[in-house]
Amino acid sequence: MHKPINHTKLPAGIRIGVSACLLGREVRFDGGHKRNRFVTDALAEYFELVSYCPEVAIGMGTPRQPIRLVADPGGTQAVGVRTPELNVTQPLGEYGRKVAAGIDGLCGFIFKKDSPSCGMARVKVYNDKGMPERTGTGLFAREIMQADPLLPVEEEGRLNDAGLCDSFITRVYVYARWKALLQAGLSTAGLVEFHASHKFLVMACSNSAYRQLGRMLSDLGGNELQDTAERYIGTLLEALKRPATRKQHTNVLQHLLGYLKRDLDPAYRVDLAGSIDAYRRGDYPLVVPLRLLQHYFGIHLHPYISRQVYLNPYPQSLQLRNVL
Ligand code: SF4
Repeated sequence: MHKPINHTKLPAGIRIGVSACLLGREVRFDGGHKRNRFVTDALAEYFELVSYCPEVAIGMGTPRQPIRLVADPGGTQAVGVRTPELNVTQPLGEYGRKVAAGIDGLCGFIFKKDSPSCGMARVKVYNDKGMPERTGTGLFAREIMQADPLLPVEEEGRLNDAGLCDSFITRVYVYARWKALLQAGLSTAGLVEFHASHKFLVMACSNSAYRQLGRMLSDLGGNELQDTAERYIGTLLEALKRPATRKQHTNVLQHLLGYLKRDLDPAYRVDLAGSIDAYRRGDYPLVVPLRLLQHYFGIHLHPYISRQVYLNPYPQSLQLRNVL
């Protein structure tokens, strides 16, 4: 029997894979690290961070000769910068596939940018003239992303962008909720309920995805549940990759305000509308109108709104919406 899940309750014990050097481990080719304070200080409070250094794992040692990617008709190769005879393409790929086979428990991955092993995108690949082109993906990262295309991934540099960071952390929690839903046993009612809780979240990022997901679920009767669920989560996570703009957030906030139309005294309504407008103009951060909405919805209960993940996509103490 379908047991309803409260999707607004934040899942605990979420595991995120991280390139080991970002955690401060001295595993880089020069014996150093690239500790990222946001990851080690802020994210470590909320997530279980699982450390991976593929180059150490394949026995390259620390310190070691740096490697780089080179273009090759047979596929991109990872070779030594000083001695190109050192080719670690195969062991890096094998280790990536071994890790990928066991990443079921992960709900996200933070990769070290520009690394020939860990870089997620735009990694330098040297052509036959020895010139770099930013077209590559680290060989370890590639295996992880291929094994689970749904897995939310990001590079540490991009986490400095508030919108991209909000998008990544939101997707990590969405994926964790999704995994919890599957673990509880996928059902039509469960999928419909999941969608109902995520409507405003997806509406903020993409109206077309919002409509597409709605159509997918309205066709549920005529399609295989498993097949619809796979298309559903793929479309949802893809849509959430695009950080919502100020205009899109404003649209959602105004929708939410509409639900309070009959409940609020005119003076409070004008005040709330003013906050939303101040956010739209860029005078207030997103957290201001959101806090007011949460406050009023705490007094005037609306079952449909109280299950909206948009109001509480991740721990508020992360304070990401204070700068959006
Ligand atoms: S980028 Fe990846 S391979 Fe390089 S040191 Fe960091 S974890 Fe190790």
